[in-house]
Amino acid sequence: MNNNESNPTKPVFVMCYCTGECPGFQSLNLWQLVNRVRNEMDVEFAIVHPQLCVDDGERFWKNFAKPGQKYLVGGCDPRMQRKMYKDALSAVGADFDAQVTALDLRNMETEAAIQKVSETLAEMGD
Ligand code: SF4
Repeated sequence: MNNNESNPTKPVFVMCYCTGECPGFQSLNLWQLVNRVRNEMDVEFAIVHPQLCVDDGERFWKNFAKPGQKYLVGGCDPRMQRKMYKDALSAVGADFDAQVTALDLRNMETEAAIQKVSETLAEMGD
């Protein structure tokens, strides 16, 4: 039985790191953020993708996304994220608006980003 069909898992945290070259993430310690999220927060697991808004990001979502699963995605402006990969989710029966909470974590220090993820997860659990 697919666990996601009858018993949706906790949110999956996906961090889009914008190739690692984006000035907007220069103050963010990526691995500290991801490890704090996966070890201390109520998520199924945490992963990093280098660039969700290009072809392999689209292929990632088509391969990875499941209907009903919640995703918390750290990256850029939520409107940009929606525009860039909502169609990839739709193609596999998932729904950006219902399943994705997109967070803008650019230009944040690591602790502030960790706090924002934690607060958002708490809101998602309400
Ligand atoms: S989705 Fe946003 S954060 Fe991710 S690579 Fe594209 S512009 Fe950067």
